[in-house]
Amino acid sequence: MKNLVVIGYGGMGGWHVERTQKSDVVKLLGIYDIDPKKSELAESRGIHAYASYEEVLADKNVDIVTVAIPNDQHKPVVIKALEAGKSVICEKPVALCSEDLQDMIDAANKAGKIFSVHQNRRWDVDTLAMKALYESGEIGEIFNIESRVHGSRGIPSDWRGMKKYGGGMIYDWGIHLIDQILQIVPSEIDTVFCRLDHLTNTEVDDGFKLELMFKNGCRAYIELGTYNFIALPRFYMQGRGGTALITDWRENCKVVKCKAWHESDVMPVETAAGLTKTMAPRDEITTDTYECERPVSDVHDYYRNFVKAIDGIESQLVTHEQMMLDMKVMEAAFKSAKLGQVIKF
Ligand code: NAD
Repeated sequence: MKNLVVIGYGGMGGWHVERTQKSDVVKLLGIYDIDPKKSELAESRGIHAYASYEEVLADKNVDIVTVAIPNDQHKPVVIKALEAGKSVICEKPVALCSEDLQDMIDAANKAGKIFSVHQNRRWDVDTLAMKALYESGEIGEIFNIESRVHGSRGIPSDWRGMKKYGGGMIYDWGIHLIDQILQIVPSEIDTVFCRLDHLTNTEVDDGFKLELMFKNGCRAYIELGTYNFIALPRFYMQGRGGTALITDWRENCKVVKCKAWHESDVMPVETAAGLTKTMAPRDEITTDTYECERPVSDVHDYYRNFVKAIDGIESQLVTHEQMMLDMKVMEAAFKSAKLGQVIKF
C-alpha cells in the first residue's frame, strides 16, 4: 500500500477521495485544499486536512500526490511535489501547452519519480468496445470513427468558463476524447482540422468539431457540444465489412455486418417525394445484426498500474509520450481553429 494525499477537494478531488478510501493499493492520508471551507468539509467527513501544501510535501509518509485543482495551476503544484520526492498523478489536462508539460516531464525524470495524468476515460466501456471492435477486424478495415458527446447546459459557470484558469471544452472534454481516439487508432496523425463553438461563452470554446486524418487512411471526427437539445449517438464506426453504433454510453455496441454485397431483389422505399433503391435498407439475407459483449472495466486499474509502476513491476499505462501527443493534438486543434486551416501534423 502506498500513502496518498489528494490536492484540491472539489468535484474531482472528492471523486479521488471516495475511490482511494476503498482502494486495495493506496491508503488515503488526507487532503489539502487552498479553501479553508473545503478543509472544514473534509474534517467533518472524518478526512484529515493538511494545513498547507508545504506540510503535505514535508510529510515523509506521503508517497503519492493526486492533483485535482483548476487546470492553470497544475504545473507549479506538480513540479513542487516531484522535487519533494513524491510520485504524482495529475488531473487532465495535465498542462495548458507542450512547453509546460515538457518542464513537468523533465522534473519527473530529474527526480526519478513516476508522473502520469489521470486519463480515467480510457476505461469507459464505450471506448473499450470500439477499441476491441477495431482490433478484432470483425468489420474489416476501419475508415471512419465518429465520437460525440452532446449536452445542453452550456459550459459550466465556474473556472471552466474562464481562459485564465485553462477553461474551455477542448481542455475539459477534448483531452479525453482525443486520448480515447489515439488509443483506438494505431496510426500516426497526418492532418488536424478544428472549429470551435462559442454559443454560450465568447471567452473560451463551449464546444468543438475536430477532424483527425491518420496516415493509415482512417478518419476520426470528434464533436463536443454543450448546446445540443437532441444528442447524436456517442460512437459511430465504419469498416469495409460493416458498421458499428453506440447510441449512448449506457448502451452496448450494435454491429451490422455485411455478409453478401450483392442483393437479388431490392424493394424501393418511398421517401417524401420519390422512390429510392439506393437508400433502401438491407435485409437479413445480406447482413448480420448483433450486439457486442459489454467490456469488463474497472477504472481503479489506473491506480493499480500507477502503484506497480512505482514498484517497478509494470510500465505506467499513461506514458509521457502519450501525454505529449495528446497535448500536441490540442495545440494543433487551437491553431487550426485560429487560422481556419488544416494543420499538417
Ligand atoms: P473544482 O472547482 O470542483 O475543485 C477544485 C478545488 O481545487 C477547489 O476546492 C479549490 O478550492 C481547490 N484549489 C484551487 N487551487 C488550489 C491550490 N493551489 N491548492 C489546493 N487546492 C486548490 O474543480 P474540479 O471539477 O474538481 O476539477 C479539478 C481538476 O480535475 C481539473 O483539472 C479538471 O479538469 C479535472 N477533472 C477531471 C475529471 C475526469 O474525469 N478526469 C472530471 C472533472 C474534473
